[in-house]
Amino acid sequence: ATEVRLVRRPDGKPVPSDFSIVDTDVPVAGPGQVLVRNHVLSVDPYMRGRMSTAKSYAEPYELGVVMYQGGAVGEVVVSNHPEFAAGDFVQHWAGWRTHSVLDASEATSVDGDAAPLSAYLGVLGMPGLTAYSGLFEVGGFAQGDTVFVSGAAGAVGSVAGQLAKLRGAKRVIGSAGSAEKVRHLVEDLGFDAAFNYKDAPVLDQLAEAAPDGIDLYFDNVGGDHLEAAIETMNLHGRIVLCGAISQYNSAEPDGLRNYRMITGKRLTLRGVLVLDHFGLRPRFLDEVGPLVRSGRLKYTETFVDGIRNAPQAFIDMLDGANTGKMIVRL
Ligand code: NDP
Repeated sequence: ATEVRLVRRPDGKPVPSDFSIVDTDVPVAGPGQVLVRNHVLSVDPYMRGRMSTAKSYAEPYELGVVMYQGGAVGEVVVSNHPEFAAGDFVQHWAGWRTHSVLDASEATSVDGDAAPLSAYLGVLGMPGLTAYSGLFEVGGFAQGDTVFVSGAAGAVGSVAGQLAKLRGAKRVIGSAGSAEKVRHLVEDLGFDAAFNYKDAPVLDQLAEAAPDGIDLYFDNVGGDHLEAAIETMNLHGRIVLCGAISQYNSAEPDGLRNYRMITGKRLTLRGVLVLDHFGLRPRFLDEVGPLVRSGRLKYTETFVDGIRNAPQAFIDMLDGANTGKMIVRL
């Protein structure tokens, strides 16, 4: 077995030497437990937050031990619990390792015939549920809204933009960090407009893409994207604060220059934390599963092979190397 440990807290951008790769014995399942051989692991932006000691909703990762929390999907190889049999596929949160021993309560069955296992880390997993709950539970999405999604070519953003469109948004605009991603958003995913935030100021490009303003902004990026959205929002607009990836490597995040406009425009800003919405999973899978199977909701994945490349996959994801969900395949 092999595991990835966090050995140093990143200073700014994470680097490979913040991690170590360690070969270990295959762990042994005790009474009531299962041993899972992982097939796919998730690297996610929130992990950057947990690598630092800054105050947050989640405890920082401990140093010198395996990256013990992170989504993964694998196959049960030994089961000491009646709920699972060898050969079953399960999703769990035991992090960056090839093998995990879990209590039965820590494993959730997934249907490997309904979708590829990797989909349960992306479109049908935590990021998909974040998009769904962010738009519909927190964002008060309404038919006819003009919606702006930042980080639109990523795991959460690509689902948020498409779900808004499928539910009757008037116009969906996305931003992303390359010409190819912009093309993908418009040509493959059906966004009405998209722009590369690296080409020109976000405010100018957003104003051009949304001549009638925006009603709902799904924020994955923060910083200048959030300011530009506030500027462009219509009266009574809603902003879903999902993430602020432009700020995660900074010790001192940017202030909000135009926060007074929030009052003038009577805007509502609400944070979404997917942890609060895990109870929606069955409804989410009932609704989004068929959309994925029929191809009406498309998803893209970027694969990196091998547990030893998990740190680099994480670093590259933060740099935008992924289109759709970044997945480590074992
Ligand atoms: P993505 O798949 O979107 O991957 C991260 C992407 O962020 C990169 O591909 C890159 O794309 C983009 N990015 C990196 N740096 C910047 C920058 N400075 N400015 C703009 N974009 C940047 O990740 P996820 O879909 O998993 O997560 C998206 C957001 O959602 C994150 O902010 C994350 O923290 C948040 N999130 C929040 C949850 C919650 O419960 N609130 C749950 C899950 C995720 P590009 O090439 O376009 O720059």
